[in-house]
Amino acid sequence: MGRIYKSMQELVGNTPLVELSRIAELPEGVKLFAKLELWNPSGSVKDRAGRYMLDEAEKKGLITPGKSTIVMPTAGNAGLGVAFAALGRGYRIIFVVPKKFSPEKQTLMKALGGEIVSTSREGGMLEASVKADEIVKNTENAVIINQFKLSSNPLAHYEGTGPEIWNDLEGDIDYVVAGAGSGGTYSGVLKYLKSQKQNITGVLVDPEGSTMGGGEHGDYDVEGIGNDFIPATMDMSLVDKVIKINDAESYEYCKKLAETEGIIAGSSSGAAVSAAVRLAKTPGVHGNIVVILPDRGDRYFSRNLYA
Ligand code: PMP
Repeated sequence: MGRIYKSMQELVGNTPLVELSRIAELPEGVKLFAKLELWNPSGSVKDRAGRYMLDEAEKKGLITPGKSTIVMPTAGNAGLGVAFAALGRGYRIIFVVPKKFSPEKQTLMKALGGEIVSTSREGGMLEASVKADEIVKNTENAVIINQFKLSSNPLAHYEGTGPEIWNDLEGDIDYVVAGAGSGGTYSGVLKYLKSQKQNITGVLVDPEGSTMGGGEHGDYDVEGIGNDFIPATMDMSLVDKVIKINDAESYEYCKKLAETEGIIAGSSSGAAVSAAVRLAKTPGVHGNIVVILPDRGDRYFSRNLYA
């Protein structure tokens, strides 16, 4: 008999690494590899952190299966990751989501059993966090799962995503390009890879309008990356270079990813690949560049990603 999975939970992680050779003409000696985190069961990199955070919160006694209500301010994917990991554990889950984020992600959260409370676009994650605190105060046995604080968030990537990339390329890695929302992915992956090979260059992809990587605060459409604060889960000492990307560039590369490589990915993936291609074409850059593709594109159809 072949391999039969006992549950969808077993399909989290071990995502494929795919060489991108059609999306752009790359200079001699530069190769681009995409880590398809969008391959995870609920469609994003956050399935890994969802499970780790839930397990950490249970181990610390912060939440009890069958009893606690989990409250989470989220752009969507972190909520999906937690909802997915929580299946069958008997939690009530309330997500607090700013209106900026795509309705498809909210539909998916509901599909996995979550309840949604909306907050304003302008208020961003900060307003969502305040609202989540208010819900906790008024709800019995309610606890916030805070992806911006729990160390299990980056740990999921230090133990999973990072080693997978290392093994697939047998350590032959020169650059890693990734965005950061909570910074769990970026920090966990870079911390692991730099512990194996010190001179890997970490490149943070930051939307124009996010102040995390520097620059002025502003509004932007790309979902899931960028921030106006540095979360505890983001280790800026692992950032060697920042590449700022605007909405148009992100959307352009989403289209290119679909048309040339057959990868239907979300706007933060477009931003990351746009940055990776810019890096690949920079004089003096050579070797292997790994770029992380955090989520699927079909959750952004209402955003006219492919218009
Ligand atoms: N891209 C998307 C679409 C996301 O939802 C997230 C999570 N907010 C990220 C990238 C960044 O992941 P992390 O929180 O690990 O920095």
